[in-house]
Amino acid sequence: MTQGELSHKEDVRNLSFEDLKRYLEGAGEKSFRADQVFEWIYQKGAWSFDGMSNLPKPLRDRLARDFYCRPFVSVQKQVSPEGTTKFLFELNDHEKIESVLIPAQGRATACVSTQAGCKFGCKFCASGVGGWVRNLTCAEIVTQVLGVREESLKHKKPLTNIVFMGTGEPLDNFENLMAAIRIINSDKGMNIGARHMTVSTAGLIPGMKELAQAGLQVELAVSLHGYDDETRSFLMPVNKKYPLKELMAACLEYIRETNRQITFEYILIRNLTCTEKAARALGKLLKGMLCKMNLIPYNPVPEFDYEPPNKLELLAFTTRLSQLGIHATVRMPRGREVQAACGQLRQGPTPPRAHGPGRVSPARPYGRRGQRVPRGRRV
Ligand code: SF4
Repeated sequence: MTQGELSHKEDVRNLSFEDLKRYLEGAGEKSFRADQVFEWIYQKGAWSFDGMSNLPKPLRDRLARDFYCRPFVSVQKQVSPEGTTKFLFELNDHEKIESVLIPAQGRATACVSTQAGCKFGCKFCASGVGGWVRNLTCAEIVTQVLGVREESLKHKKPLTNIVFMGTGEPLDNFENLMAAIRIINSDKGMNIGARHMTVSTAGLIPGMKELAQAGLQVELAVSLHGYDDETRSFLMPVNKKYPLKELMAACLEYIRETNRQITFEYILIRNLTCTEKAARALGKLLKGMLCKMNLIPYNPVPEFDYEPPNKLELLAFTTRLSQLGIHATVRMPRGREVQAACGQLRQGPTPPRAHGPGRVSPARPYGRRGQRVPRGRRV
């Protein structure tokens, strides 16, 4: 399909089930045709209208005239020894986004992007290096999940979990995120339970408030990464707009409204975020809160002058948190071999390092390189 042909058509995956039903009824079709089209796209994984064999040919032609449902072009794919697979997908406007398949025993997780680039510029993150380009559409979010699921099924692993922890700030693209979640969650769509989806945020308070009101049972992960305003503003400039005190108040409100636990993502940087001072501050900050912490040892790259803690420091920090009543688990970054830290593929290759990733050459280089702390629970 040429760019010209695409420009006057809409991606059918931007339509909710109700939208599609309205369109089909407007075309004089019975409403059950919407069930059939949704089933083909989201359950059978169809990538064109041609193969929708139980639809009459004139309807297939009409759908193909008004819409498309093609897959993304995968311009790069890297697979780690443990099976973590990272895709660099190209969008219609040639922007590139990253999605990751993370297999585990009997299940698999898709980590997907919600924006092309990111405007929040966290100090440890490659996704923010090139700045923000645009929001992804609902279709672009859902199509990543479909593409990752296809790969997952090739390995006979059902796709069971979705984490919105790829490039971009999900709550900065709220409407499209919600539309995608509804399709993924719907029994007419991909039928993945809301509790199996995790929305991550850098701490956008208005978005957290909206999410609390959305009535979805999705998990919320807040990227904390600093133990006071000074460290957090240094690592995450968004903290200047939404400082810790306000963020913690918003978290408490979210828990009150939803009765759901929050997960705090926390990067471990030697002599900076995992000191005794940090542990004590975290103890005060999170005291009594319905939450848990994911501790993520920093994954070193040449661009940033940080180091992860050694094993003893890590043990000392986790023990201290436990003494302070904080339930914390350490999540070792998976997929180092595939530059699975978000934003790395999009930014281009990292030079070889002693413990660094093995790589596939990218289609074209993208300027500065960096690393993003993976925000996914199991990334
Ligand atoms: S960590 Fe998240 S919010 Fe921060 S720059 Fe990266 S993608 Fe953006």
